Order: sequence, then structure tokens, then C-alpha cells
Amino acid sequence: MKYEVNKSEEEWKRELTPEEYRILRQKGTERAFTGALYNNHDKGTYVCAACGEPLFSSETKYESGSGWPSFYQPLKKESVDREEDRSHGMDRTEVLCSKCGGHLGHVFPDGPKPTGLRYCINSASLKFKKE
Ligand SMILES: [Zn+2]
Repeated sequence: MKYEVNKSEEEWKRELTPEEYRILRQKGTERAFTGALYNNHDKGTYVCAACGEPLFSSETKYESGSGWPSFYQPLKKESVDREEDRSHGMDRTEVLCSKCGGHLGHVFPDGPKPTGLRYCINSASLKFKKE
């Protein structure tokens, strides 16, 4: 098994809201500018909505104007997995939770310094723990 947290689709369906399930388990995307955490500026940690793994810090969140919470790096390099995604006729890199394999969003090479990366993450894939 690739991931530490493994649950059946039935279990995930029971535990997650329909929107979380659609995004985390079926690789969906929330509509731009609709996510609960897009305009969150509080200090704290963003954890996986499915398994609670800490994924991003508020210190690396920035205003990308994209409509989704954007970070220039994960909490730790190994906090997230990356996979090639050629769906929808695009060549993108998918970002997944390294602990449960939940779909988080995508990473693009147009972010700010120091990494030059933009982790474009669905609000529904995250829960915020205020400091
Ligand atoms: Zn997770």
C-alpha cells in the first residue's frame, strides 16, 4: 500500500462532506473564489481535511489572484506527493496528501520567490488550525 491511511470509498463517503469527497477522492476542483480559506489571513497551519496531516503553513500562503488558496511551498517537502496529470488536455502536476493520497490541487511553476512555485490548493481539501 502506497499510503499510510487507507480507507474504503464507503468510509471516505461517510467521513467527508459531499464537496470534500468530490475533490479529495475524485480529484474535483472547487469553483474559483468560493473556497472558505481563500481569503483566510490568520496565522496557523493548514492540515489535510481527510486525515489531518499538517500540509502548509500560513507563512507561505500568498495572494496569487487565482481564486484558490496558494502557497509557495509545503510545510515539509515530503508532506505532499506530486504526480503527472494529463487530464483535461493539460500537462499539469497534481499535488496529493502524502499520508492518505487525497487530491489537494496542482503545482505550477509561476510562484513567487524563493521557490518559484505556486501550490494551487482547494479550500475543501484543507482544514485550518489557528495558532
Ligand atoms: Zn491526507
